[in-house]
Amino acid sequence: MTEQLPPTAACSVEVVLATPAHSGLGDSLSYWSSEPLQPGVLVRVPLGAREVLGIVWQVHAPPPDGLSADGLKPVRESFATLPPLQANWRALVAFAARYYQRGLGEVALAALPPQLRELDGAALLRRLKKLDAAALGVGGGTVPGAGAPVAAGTQAPGLGPAAVVPAPSPEQAAVLAALAQSTQPVLLFGATGSGKTEVYLRAAQALLQQDPQAQALVLVPEINLTPQLEARFGERFGTHGVVALHSGLSPAQRLRHWLAAHCGQARIVLGTRMAVFASLPRLRLIVVDEEHDPSYKSQDGARYSARDLAVYRARLESGTARCQVILGSATPALESWHAAEQGRYQRLQMPGRIAGAALPRLRLLDLNQQPRQCLIAPPLLAQLVARAARGEQSLVLLNRRGYAPVLACHACGWKSDCPHCSAHAVFHKLDRSLRCHHCGHASPVPRACPACGNLDIAPVGRGTEQVEEHLGALLAEARRPDGSPVRVARLDADSTRAKGSLHSRLAAMHEGEVDVLVGTQMVAKGHDFRRITLVAGLNVDSGLFASDYRAPERLFALLLQAAGRAGRDAAFVAAQQAEVELWVQTWYPQHPLFAALARHDYPAFAAQQLRERASAQMPPFSFQALLRAEARTQATAQAWLQAAADAARGAGLPGLAQSTLYPPLPLTVQRVAGVERAQMLIESPSRPALQALLAAWQPLLHALRRQPPGRGLLRWAIDVDPVSL
Ligand code: ADP
Ligand code: ZN
Ligand code: ZN
Repeated sequence: MTEQLPPTAACSVEVVLATPAHSGLGDSLSYWSSEPLQPGVLVRVPLGAREVLGIVWQVHAPPPDGLSADGLKPVRESFATLPPLQANWRALVAFAARYYQRGLGEVALAALPPQLRELDGAALLRRLKKLDAAALGVGGGTVPGAGAPVAAGTQAPGLGPAAVVPAPSPEQAAVLAALAQSTQPVLLFGATGSGKTEVYLRAAQALLQQDPQAQALVLVPEINLTPQLEARFGERFGTHGVVALHSGLSPAQRLRHWLAAHCGQARIVLGTRMAVFASLPRLRLIVVDEEHDPSYKSQDGARYSARDLAVYRARLESGTARCQVILGSATPALESWHAAEQGRYQRLQMPGRIAGAALPRLRLLDLNQQPRQCLIAPPLLAQLVARAARGEQSLVLLNRRGYAPVLACHACGWKSDCPHCSAHAVFHKLDRSLRCHHCGHASPVPRACPACGNLDIAPVGRGTEQVEEHLGALLAEARRPDGSPVRVARLDADSTRAKGSLHSRLAAMHEGEVDVLVGTQMVAKGHDFRRITLVAGLNVDSGLFASDYRAPERLFALLLQAAGRAGRDAAFVAAQQAEVELWVQTWYPQHPLFAALARHDYPAFAAQQLRERASAQMPPFSFQALLRAEARTQATAQAWLQAAADAARGAGLPGLAQSTLYPPLPLTVQRVAGVERAQMLIESPSRPALQALLAAWQPLLHALRRQPPGRGLLRWAIDVDPVSL
């Protein structure tokens, strides 16, 4: 690849465009440019009748005169004012496309802010000028606190909102010292509340002291965690050098933040998984917080893992200058834990909480001993009352939104099924609707059973709405220390849909206006609540016996993370003389998962799980991919998958001998929005063998699409390293 051409040379260029992976157009198209262009330059080029955004990927010196422009359409416009996308960025995108079996253009263009596609050079120039003006306001993009070392326990230099930088705890200090020496990906195994975020802040600070122009990327699994993190980084480094990248931004904000990162003004980029593709010309540190979280795996388009790409990206960048990657978690993914056991990652530990705060004690509530059908067992209810009376907060976790998962008629057995999916429509009492959580179909709740006319149709099972309603009634007489009524609130995808409602609900919790917060896994992650002393898990048993082999890992992480929201402020706990506890309602108190949970013993749990995985040759001891197919009928989808397997075997594809192709199966929820879904699991003990197989298979799959049974197919896709089966 040529990076630089003589300044006067005209050239032909390979331009990568957002062509769908399956369009058959290939990865790039050739164009002619009368002016010299470099790889990585953004251009607008004609495609059919349209003009589209593209990225110059390769530049060829001009062929002899006369031949030059033959058949090649000219580049319409190049964005000369914008620095080119760097070779490392292009290599990252190319790797992601290859590894996850997608089109290069699809991945590359999806990594750019959507608004960029709509701008011409003049409009872009205006945005860039605005950006420059903003940067001048903060001394050319350097960051306060980056200049001089910050003494422990002092105020960071150059900061307004009196941000006191805490002295590192001994564990933090040891980790920071090790980080300074480390040359490997680091797995920061730190208890909940051990101060991992402070480590990230210090690591960024140390980096900026060495190199004031360096950039750091910090990834979190959920949008709702970005405001808290932005506040902490903004407080430490000044808000000008810190930008966020996630799908909650307006198109204009996203472009502005992306440009700030790309042009080097932003020192720190905070974001969700999509931010792993941010263009960062001086990237020297990548943090993946809560690295175990399945949200890091994209579930559509290119199904990439932002965590795995972060590790890859750090290695790529290290070719230029040292780039460190830190994966942080109290419950690491078994893949990461295994990598640390093998020595591929360096494990650094912070087992203790800040200021010696105690980890929650596990209290198992045996439902066999409780009144039948009770939603909240009496001893747990008594705890909620007592804690609210002392001014302590509680968190009640139920991983199911809505009022009840299904409405049923006891006379005829009718159930509120979604007409378009093989799933129940969930009963939402607040707006009297039946809503499908798979396709979004909504209908009003019928007055009587649609099948038999019986008036007595009833909700079956529980959701967060119901728990909120019940607790409201059960706690009606309960009082706070000042004699006012106890307040219950709910935090889930429904209650936070309106703009600003997530923020206001979290603020109410942080400010102590809420005593009992009911929520889904959304409340379990990352939040630094200060006054919670009790966390309760309801209906957790399905996670003990689910068919997905990752279910125990997920449940353990969910409960430990949820518990991690309690007792984070040692001083508060001491002043209250509070018992910090995790209560779990279960029919199976003897289950071994709970024994490890009671000891907060993730290493023992991980060791046991890894033994099971090893004996069954499951990941991380093998590598998986799914071939997914969607059609109007299940038979068509499965027949196509079978034909795909036959074609692979018939062609004797590379890697096949080391791989197992399992028979096609319907997905657990096999029909969504009227579309039947099937998948085939492909497994291999060798990652290269699996990759070779998938790469060689692709052209056959494209061809198969055009003959029966492929003609009846709606879509197919490959999911490499799937996180749920
Ligand atoms: P984690 O991310 O490991 O769950 P946090 O980084 O959120 O933990 O830290 C937990 C709490 O402890 C936060 O409120 C943080 O401000 C505080 N904290 C972190 N490090 C220190 C320290 N060295 N001294 C005092 N407080 C600290
Ligand atoms: Zn009926
Ligand atoms: Zn549906």
